[in-house]
Amino acid sequence: MGFIQLNNVTKFFTKTLKPAVDSLDLSINKGEIITLLGPSGCGKTTTLRMIAGFEQPSTGEIAIDEEEVFSDHLSLPPEKRGIGMVFQDYALFPHMSIVKNVMFGLNKWSTREKKKRAKEVLELVGLEEYATRYPTELSGGQQQRVALARALAPKPHVVLMDEPFSNLDAGLREKMRFDVTNILRKANTTAIIVTHDQKDAFAVSDRVVVMNEGVIQQIAAPKEMYRCPKNCFVAQFVGKTNLLDGTMDNDQRSIHTHIGKVDLPEQWKERLENVKLSIRPEGCRLAKEGQYCGKVERVTYGGEYQELYVRLHSDHMLSKEPMVIYAPIEQDVEIGSI
Ligand code: ADP
Ligand code: MG
Repeated sequence: MGFIQLNNVTKFFTKTLKPAVDSLDLSINKGEIITLLGPSGCGKTTTLRMIAGFEQPSTGEIAIDEEEVFSDHLSLPPEKRGIGMVFQDYALFPHMSIVKNVMFGLNKWSTREKKKRAKEVLELVGLEEYATRYPTELSGGQQQRVALARALAPKPHVVLMDEPFSNLDAGLREKMRFDVTNILRKANTTAIIVTHDQKDAFAVSDRVVVMNEGVIQQIAAPKEMYRCPKNCFVAQFVGKTNLLDGTMDNDQRSIHTHIGKVDLPEQWKERLENVKLSIRPEGCRLAKEGQYCGKVERVTYGGEYQELYVRLHSDHMLSKEPMVIYAPIEQDVEIGSI
């Protein structure tokens, strides 16, 4: 059993419709940072709210710190689950100073201990000098750090964050990915972060849980998720890719596609008939001479690279779908035949 464990958790909001979350199994280790990643409406927030206790599963079991918090005969309220929640809009109390905001969740502690702990967590998030200010006097990134400090103050078993980066502009977003991960690591806490952004998920987490239509598609570390996606949905959702139809040859050595043959890795064992081949844009190179020829249809300047849309020749015909290929900025590329 994991430090946090979800067994077969399903949530129906209405009896007739498809479940918002469908038979979800998830096991999280102590100290791990996990992200729930997926498109809008796939059930991320519902999953987080069920762990927190703000929403009741229709069926299933949830345990936190190896203690049951939800089953068919038990449902602990949020305040008894040992969770720290950071809401999307931070939900700071505007009429309270930063230090009062942070002390809010410590009502059972003595005043002396409250003050000591608030000082500790404000130091941890780098805001000890802002203790007497009010939320409106802080920037978005600072407000988020206060929200995180408030969530961490009671030393919860797990910190839950719903779309923590979505209200931040691009530059600050990158900084906050770094800051939030640093703070969570320093606090040595377990965290579950919800995001619809692959870059957020890859930057902050040990493992990523990709969801679609209420169902977990894959659970893996970022690198494995990117390099070995389990299905077409994951391949397309984490980064760009080209999906080609293919057939596997009988001895399981290669896959044949309309633009040619691709060798399989030595260790490949599974025999499949019709397959999809995922080729990442950075896995292709544009060369003057080579096995393939085609037509560059579009070139987009991407900053660090150029994004090319290339239609390859196959059987003297141009392929139906163009392939996306990243080319180095220095490479001279012209629209037209290659
Ligand atoms: P996400 O956070 O991934 O965007 P949600 O968990 O918010 O997705 O929603 C998952 C599905 O459940 C959606 O189809 C949404 O419309 C539905 N849903 C969420 N909350 C409620 C609710 N309180 N009542 C009815 N349907 C809901
Ligand atoms: Mg959501």
